[in-house]
Amino acid sequence: MSKSESNEAMKNDVFIVGGGPAGLAAAIAARSRGLSVAVADIATPPFDKACGEGLMPDAVASLANLGVSISPEEGYLFDGIRFIDGNRKVEAAFPSGTGVGIRRPVLHRILVDRAREAGVMFFWGARVERTHTGEIVMNGSKVRARWIIGADGHKSRVRRWAGLQQRRKQQVRFGFCLHYSVKPWTNRVEVYWGAHCQFIVTPVSQSNMSVVLITRNPRLRIGDALPLFPELQSRLAGSTVSTTERGAFSAMMSVDSVSRDQFALIGDASGSVDAITGEGLRLAFQQALRLGDALATNDLARYEAEHRRIARLPMFMSRLMLLMDRSVLIRHSVMRVFSAQPKVFAKLLAIHTGAKMETAQRPRDSGIPDHIHMADTEYQQLIRREAVGD
Ligand SMILES: Cc1cc2nc3c(=O)[nH]c(=O)nc-3n(C[C@H](O)[C@H](O)[C@H](O)COP(=O)(O)OP(=O)(O)OC[C@H]3O[C@@H](n4cnc5c(N)ncnc54)[C@H](O)[C@@H]3O)c2cc1C
Repeated sequence: MSKSESNEAMKNDVFIVGGGPAGLAAAIAARSRGLSVAVADIATPPFDKACGEGLMPDAVASLANLGVSISPEEGYLFDGIRFIDGNRKVEAAFPSGTGVGIRRPVLHRILVDRAREAGVMFFWGARVERTHTGEIVMNGSKVRARWIIGADGHKSRVRRWAGLQQRRKQQVRFGFCLHYSVKPWTNRVEVYWGAHCQFIVTPVSQSNMSVVLITRNPRLRIGDALPLFPELQSRLAGSTVSTTERGAFSAMMSVDSVSRDQFALIGDASGSVDAITGEGLRLAFQQALRLGDALATNDLARYEAEHRRIARLPMFMSRLMLLMDRSVLIRHSVMRVFSAQPKVFAKLLAIHTGAKMETAQRPRDSGIPDHIHMADTEYQQLIRREAVGD
């Protein structure tokens, strides 16, 4: 990239470091509020990443609020979640809306197309750094945007540059992803629970299933773990693997603050939930809508508050799932309650999707409805009462 091209980035209101889903969603939201936007990413499309590739109904609704729609042939619709723990199974349909399984490069392309159409400027293969004098530079040229957004993922450098440190306590696991050429046997996302690891299986097209292993053991691979899950193994028997195995960190991590001076964080850079919740992308899209509003009104305090609010329930869900991962006793007791009373599982799923659903019909994405506060309390009480016996 030439120096003059790089200099173009300085003329924008918003400069976004990281062109993953969070950075692209933020770019679209900021452009739709009339701000000029540049996105820089060290990588070059197409982008792929180890990911469950499941968009929950509320993620799909937030995308619609960003003007992004996914056509049926670009993904695979799913209508609920199924938990499988040995012989015990429990499942429920979403109370409203459908989720979409979609290959990560396809989602990325759709977001890039939408952002380009909105007038976002891109700098691919561009390294963004901070000089020893504290200046932010892209490929050697100084960046002088009004706002600098850190959408640079879990190990965010922008977070460090802005002095926004992550909290010390974080729980890290490892996710590994493969795709199998097989006709989906279900229109649910399946979560297979085992000893200290889980498989998340998402249909992503008419002929492909995404299979993700999440574990605390960085050395465990899908091929090693599959024999521990005979049902899944027999489902996949005879099918071919269509991608190479990719790995990624799955971290539950939060930061005290997501903005400072001209900096704001979004997506995994701003905190993350464990991958098993399938909530990372929804969080990013909802944050983007709030960030767009906050930048346009010069009110990052508002973004701080909204960010905290959006993350609260997924963080709780993440803690619960990690508890089920760590303790066989809790997992079995939770699964026992779910299978004896499927309505409890359905209610939890409803709270996690339907109760906080942001409908695409709303003129502006104005946030999680007020009754979420009720839902959160109700949810916590329900789990304690029914599963943990508190
Ligand atoms: C195993 C696994 C399964 C998951 N499954 C699901 C799921 O089913 N559903 C769901 O909603 N979420 C899921 N998630 C979470 C989801 O993938 C993340 O929340 C999401 O990728 C976050 O997007 P992001 O844009 O914040 O970060 P990223 O996707 O990590 O993008 C960050 C970008 O920043 C760029 N970058 C970094 N540093 C620099 C720099 N200095 N200069 C320029 N560019 C830079 C990188 O190249 C990258 O493109 C899963 C996560 C894992 C690990």
